[in-house]
Amino acid sequence: MNSALQAINELNRVRLAHLPTPLHALPRLTRKLDGPGLWIKRDDLTGLAGGGNKTRKLEFLIAEALDRGCDSVVTAGGAQSNHCRQTAAACAQVGLECHLVLGGEPPALPLGNLLLDDLLGSRIHWVEKSRRNNRLDELGGELRRQGREPYVIPIGGSNSLGCLGYARAMFELKEQASQLGITIDRIVFATSSGGTQAGIVLGARLSGFRGRITAISIDQPPDNSAEHTFLAGVAQIATEGAERIGRNVQFAAGDCETEYGYLGAGYGVVGELERHAIRELARTEGILTGPVYTGRALGALLNMIARGAIGPQQTVVFWHTGDDVALHAYSAEMSTNSHSQS
Ligand SMILES: *Cc1c(COP(=O)(O)O)cnc(C)c1O
Repeated sequence: MNSALQAINELNRVRLAHLPTPLHALPRLTRKLDGPGLWIKRDDLTGLAGGGNKTRKLEFLIAEALDRGCDSVVTAGGAQSNHCRQTAAACAQVGLECHLVLGGEPPALPLGNLLLDDLLGSRIHWVEKSRRNNRLDELGGELRRQGREPYVIPIGGSNSLGCLGYARAMFELKEQASQLGITIDRIVFATSSGGTQAGIVLGARLSGFRGRITAISIDQPPDNSAEHTFLAGVAQIATEGAERIGRNVQFAAGDCETEYGYLGAGYGVVGELERHAIRELARTEGILTGPVYTGRALGALLNMIARGAIGPQQTVVFWHTGDDVALHAYSAEMSTNSHSQS
């Protein structure tokens, strides 16, 4: 076994995900588009109360919470956060109390992920979106003063420990590709808090993956030195992730290819790009993608193919990061009659 993979596997991990997730072809979509050869990595099927990419990170994060003797977990996200829903499920599975700091106002009717957060027994703390990180720290302090032992997980579980879930996933992908006899030219997926991207970039380096890795920014604008340093942060998470397993591998923003052209009207605002992509995959392959992340990333991929940025001879893996649960909270945006023709 690769020694880096061995080092990752030696870290504490709670088994939360059903792994490996399937890697399979999308033959009807490939034919309809006349190439490239499209494949899908089904992290929507990680299985944690609806699945998704946060499950791989949580395997390491929840293990550390238990290892430290924590009795509760605190994390934050949007009202339709897939990360929060998977954290709530992970906590229920191992018997930790789960506190979720959600940005916005409680809706009259909880739908999608928010409904599941409640069913899974989490305690929800609403706060203005810009105050989520402050509230996360405050809440950790409040719980400590009450004699509790909270484990605080950053938004998206995106830190050097969480990212190792995706470093590990790259070895899984490589193994599957070799069994299937395919050479992957490119991986496309959604990025937002950056931990998935950091892990994939790190895992690619450690496993010797030679394809191109393209993250589609869902909400992050390009870095502009002083105020906004998203990609620098992604690179730092990857570098620190390597350190955790005793590898001195440095990453820079330039190692993290990111497309910024698909930000649409902002985070969680569903437009024609997402509507079209979601319908296209659903109607050609019977697979659901979500309104916020995977619909946008898939829309970006379809657009890159349509404008010739990805050639027909390529083999491309779309990494499904799992957010179809949120569709139910977006029925007004998804199912209007005027949009029912694709
Ligand atoms: C969180 C999330 C992402 C982005 O992952 P990050 O690690 O936060 O960049 C992509 N897709 C889905 C469905 C998510 O929930």
